[in-house]
Amino acid sequence: MTDSQSTSPSLENLLHETRAFPPSPEFAAQANAQPSMYDEAAADRVEFWARQARELVTWKTPFTETLDWSGAPVARWFADGTLNAAYNAVDRHVEAGLGDRVAIHFEGEPGDTRTVTYADLQREVSRAANALAALGVESGDRVVIYLPMLVESVVAMLACARLGAAHSVVFGGFSADALRSRISDAGAKLVITADGGYRRGAPSALKPAVDEALAPKDGAEATTVEHVLVVRRTRQDVAWTEGRDVWWHDAVEAADTFHEPAWVDAEHPLFILYTSGTTGKPKGILHTTGGYLTQTAFTHKNVFDLKAESDVYWCTADIGWVTGHSYIVYGPLLNGATQVIYEGTPDTPHRGRWWEIVQKYGVSIFYTAPTAIRACMKWGEEIPAEFDLSSLRVLGSVGEPINPEAWMWYRRVIGSDRTPIVDTWWQTETGAIMISPLPGVTAAKPGSAQVPLPGIAATVVDDEANPVPDGGGGYLVLAEPWPSMLRGIWGDLQRFKDTYWSRFPGVYFAGDGAKKDDDGDIWLLGRVDDVMNVSGHRLSTTEIESALVSNELVAEAAVVGAADDVSGQAVVAFVILRGGHADEASTDEGSARIEKTLRDHVAKEIGPIAKPKRILVVAELPKTRSGKIMRRLLRDVAENREVGDATTLADSSVMGLIQAGLSGSS
Ligand code: ATP
Ligand code: MG
Repeated sequence: MTDSQSTSPSLENLLHETRAFPPSPEFAAQANAQPSMYDEAAADRVEFWARQARELVTWKTPFTETLDWSGAPVARWFADGTLNAAYNAVDRHVEAGLGDRVAIHFEGEPGDTRTVTYADLQREVSRAANALAALGVESGDRVVIYLPMLVESVVAMLACARLGAAHSVVFGGFSADALRSRISDAGAKLVITADGGYRRGAPSALKPAVDEALAPKDGAEATTVEHVLVVRRTRQDVAWTEGRDVWWHDAVEAADTFHEPAWVDAEHPLFILYTSGTTGKPKGILHTTGGYLTQTAFTHKNVFDLKAESDVYWCTADIGWVTGHSYIVYGPLLNGATQVIYEGTPDTPHRGRWWEIVQKYGVSIFYTAPTAIRACMKWGEEIPAEFDLSSLRVLGSVGEPINPEAWMWYRRVIGSDRTPIVDTWWQTETGAIMISPLPGVTAAKPGSAQVPLPGIAATVVDDEANPVPDGGGGYLVLAEPWPSMLRGIWGDLQRFKDTYWSRFPGVYFAGDGAKKDDDGDIWLLGRVDDVMNVSGHRLSTTEIESALVSNELVAEAAVVGAADDVSGQAVVAFVILRGGHADEASTDEGSARIEKTLRDHVAKEIGPIAKPKRILVVAELPKTRSGKIMRRLLRDVAENREVGDATTLADSSVMGLIQAGLSGSS
């Protein structure tokens, strides 16, 4: 074993998943994606992207130069072209005679609805751009957007883009402190917020966090914010700072409906977005215009097989994270799609709300995260069974590795054993999808993102940067620049270089572990930071979690390596039991039985080395606002340390609950 270790891949491949689902001939016959795309891109990658940029984006001044990599690692794509993102997302569709097409079916949590056509959107965005300009926003400025999921959120982002001002959307669920640090880091001139939004059946205030974030603070510099624009949603009472605060409806409704877009260079900043903060301090990821729009439009069209005339698309993400930027705002609108935007939570007022929305609007393409799928599994398949889901034809997943069992459930229960599933790997930094099956082309494997998209050079390397052979494991890297790649970390070029370009010089280090199966398909294995070393074996959290979730007792699992005298690190598993089994864990006898069952199960699925040393039954897991498990906090618990920075947690009480539950049980 030690022998093979020095020459062998950096991660040991454990879980064996062999199911595969080839596309149906009917689907393949009508698919946007074609196998020939891979050949075209392989023949000339740069020219492939130039063609996409010409076909999918409308340029004011056409570009003549495709890629300039001389300033690596900061790429320049289509640099001498000029364009406007909002014009591409909205106006050009109206000019093409599609003004009456629905752009957004808005569904508020309380049940209020609003239908917005592309012509409506053009008027709203133009007015908002005029209103922002009247408040002093100019090309090159930064605007922080702190809003719930509303039509105005999309309008606000596009209004910034129309002016050439970079937006920086901050999750509505973040605290005043998190908001303040992002406002300061970005140097924002304006904040756009709302009185509140509806969450879990009640109005939830937002404006107080903005007031607190902007309040003078001892020892801290005043922020650069001049105005706060406030959308009225819940009609809650709000504190008002005269001269600073302005109602959205006053400013926007009074503004002119004509606005000439600012024609900007392809490399003009479009937005800054702070990463989810799953692993540490969030980074202000900078994206620019031309390359980002090209790749979001290309991927949205081909990975989801979008037919703009007939599909109804729904991505359940929040606009506060990158999925909302690329696959609610820019990708779908660039492609002229009709989409659903839903304000609230999946279980308000009942656990079938999402499926009710699918039925109501005839949603045909549905994009969500594994955490949501696992929650639905926990609630039971009788719930979706009450609704007509026959309109669905493509399902997508993003955010974390999807456990094979969750994938199978998604396909069988939501997709009637019929729909392709696209497991899309990408990051805030990559801007758009990078690795994914193509529906109609790829035979899908549950739990694997599989293939780099045409024009994308993703591979898996070992510690010495050598590509691993099929069957090997190591680190996911991107070997060539891509159009929607980040152009840096806002204000910190050195951190950009250190974080992504120093581990393997010249290639982009994604920070995720991955393996290649015998067919050369890529499987994501979780973050490199989370890899465990147990008695010299390097084990991935993802595979042990997938093994646990494949047991009928378990709804969700998080695995960490905790320091151990004997084995270096020991596997510690935190599990949430499926409904019905939760009571069993309340007695010592019951929990001992559950622990044994699960240990044996992992030994059988993977091998004895992966058996968790401790299994802790919990009611909740710590997650970021975007639904990702924060394993580093669980590692703190497993090692009896004080829990580290938890400011990006969705629910700050979760860590307290976990600790209280565990101290009570031991
Ligand atoms: P931070 O970088 O601040 O720690 P984060 O990485 O969670 O936060 P995001 O950019 O939102 O922020 O998430 C990207 C990460 O999510 C990827 O690096 C990967 O770990 C995970 N991920 C996303 N999609 C997939 C997928 N389909 N399969 C496996 N992992 C995925
Ligand atoms: Mg990350």
